Amino acid sequence: MEYKLWINGQWTDTRDGKKMAVENPATGEKIAEVVDAGRADVDAAVSAAHTAFYDGRWSKLTPGERSLALWRLADLLEKRAEDFARAESENTGKPFKLVSLGADMPFAVDNLRFFSAAARDTHGYTSGEYAKGFTSIYRREPVGVVAQIAPWNYPLMMAVWKIGPALAAGCTIVLKPAPGTPITTLMLAEIIAEAGIPAGVVNIISGGNDTGQALVEHPDVRMVSLTGSTNTGKKIMKTAADTLKRVHLELGGKAPFIVFDDADIETVAATATLAATFNTGQDCTAATRVYVEGAKMNSVLEALVEAMRAVKIGQPFEDGVQMGPLISGVQRERVQGFVARAKASGASIVTGGGVPAGLGKGYFFEPTVVVNADQRSEIVQSEVFGPVLTVNSFKGDAEAVQMGNDVLYGLAASLWTKDVGRAMRIAGELEFGTVWVNDHIPLASETPHGGFKQSGFGKDLSAEAVSDYKITKHVMVKNA
Ligand code: NAD
Repeated sequence: MEYKLWINGQWTDTRDGKKMAVENPATGEKIAEVVDAGRADVDAAVSAAHTAFYDGRWSKLTPGERSLALWRLADLLEKRAEDFARAESENTGKPFKLVSLGADMPFAVDNLRFFSAAARDTHGYTSGEYAKGFTSIYRREPVGVVAQIAPWNYPLMMAVWKIGPALAAGCTIVLKPAPGTPITTLMLAEIIAEAGIPAGVVNIISGGNDTGQALVEHPDVRMVSLTGSTNTGKKIMKTAADTLKRVHLELGGKAPFIVFDDADIETVAATATLAATFNTGQDCTAATRVYVEGAKMNSVLEALVEAMRAVKIGQPFEDGVQMGPLISGVQRERVQGFVARAKASGASIVTGGGVPAGLGKGYFFEPTVVVNADQRSEIVQSEVFGPVLTVNSFKGDAEAVQMGNDVLYGLAASLWTKDVGRAMRIAGELEFGTVWVNDHIPLASETPHGGFKQSGFGKDLSAEAVSDYKITKHVMVKNA
């Protein structure tokens, strides 16, 4: 397969870009060739989005008209879910039935339906007479041209989380998928056109970090929305400062999974395993740091190791597979490096830590449990982005909170207890954008998702996401 760039409603040849190969991480084979867009391509895409914004072909539609187009887009994605899921599994190695078709596609369709409805939400600002003789009117207007930059871990879903709220708000878009996983995002172009979203409103350009950088520098881009690593978020914020763009940053995570002594051990072990191995642990909310209240340490560890060993690893299209490969050879080396350094610094690997046998050329890695790692050590503090759990113990509520909060990140956390009062108290103390009680990982389109601390700011999903793509204008009318 070969893809061009989607600019102004047309497949467009690159002006100054190069070609780049896309591979299947389960086999290491090349599956497609796409464009690594250059600066002239970025200019063309931003120019199309700029024209489309200012002539009002999208921003001046009624919310009802935008809502209808988003609903049609959801219907088209649902109709073609199997094609999209197949392409997603080929490009990422995700288990086809469990993740791509079973989780990512239905959620992405539901996300679009939610944003279709949210486009019509009028709740919020009140107009009135606040100065004598004047009527004040608040207009919530779209921010303008938005550059949206996505990661590789949930390519299609992240594309939908970006375009859904921005389109609902009335913005126009240049969307850049991650360099290794552009296929399903480029496939979106066809159904965006079919849904009746006008040409130039959504432009999709594949490319690497330099393409992203050029987008962030572009003076006609009013806002940058990134889902990616914390380091990339920092670079983007610095670059965006030159043109004072708004930034919306969904960054890394290092979620604690805090188990109090009254929690049910079997449920804890099963959920921690799912939350650490779903999408091969390449999830910003994945469970990564298990903290167990003193007395329960050995029994939780035993159940957890058993559950992690039972995860079925395999090729994405094999029946019953729960976990596929990591995204690339580079990512596997990264994960292996973290585990090797943890071992060298005195931690023990109680299960996993290696490459599973008999799976061919893909970038597979075993579910791994690390114990005796110091709270301040790299494996506890840094985002590994693989199926790796550290397990440590704590004594009492205060220490649970202290250890849970003791990282730079603040995206998601879970706590496990039957004591409602304790759950409410601890949830209030944890500095994370999402806190689950007695579960880990579920989301709904209505629920805001976003970080505290160095996990970024701004929300994906929920009505708050639509609000992030709007700006308030005050119109003051003299009555007399
Ligand atoms: P990454 O930061 O390497 O890349 C993300 C995107 O940013 C890519 O499209 C990349 O090309 C682009 N980019 C990189 N440098 C850039 C620059 N200087 N200017 C503009 N664009 C640039 O992240 P990744 O490795 O693709 O994704 C994994 C990361 O994403 C993890 O840290 C994970 O936690 C995070 N993530 C966060 C969320 C969330 O909701 N908070 C969700 C998914 C993933």
